[in-house]
Amino acid sequence: MAGLGRLSDIMRSLNQAGMVGQRIRESGFVLEKTEMKTSLAELAGAVSEAKMELGILQAHLQDKDAELKAMGELLHTKAQLRRRGDGYYKSRDGKVYGQPFCSYCWEGDQKLFHLHNRILKKDVRICPHCKNEYQSQRTPYLEADGLLL
Ligand SMILES: [Zn+2]
Repeated sequence: MAGLGRLSDIMRSLNQAGMVGQRIRESGFVLEKTEMKTSLAELAGAVSEAKMELGILQAHLQDKDAELKAMGELLHTKAQLRRRGDGYYKSRDGKVYGQPFCSYCWEGDQKLFHLHNRILKKDVRICPHCKNEYQSQRTPYLEADGLLL
């Protein structure tokens, strides 16, 4: 089946092109005009199919590269995050700092959302995504004292 960018499809097209070449060689490079036309059309078809499959394969590879990059960034983020109180914080040398992230969103979906102060309620912070509420006391902003960021 064509159009999936699989190596087997590419090899099949290239083998087909190779077989046309072999047929031309075996004829001693002497073919009737119609046979030559047919062979050239077959050759061009096989080559363009291989080219198309290679394009699809290249797109797959670029998708995989982007996926790997995203996974690498997630791993890097995971390594930096520390739970403290009810939130997650970035850390450097084991010291947490900055605004807290929603623990519900991080633990459930590995998504980071900073908690916001609830309007008119200083003691409540809220996640803009899942709307979970947290006590400000258990999710304070932490200064990055002495940390080189
Ligand atoms: Zn949340």
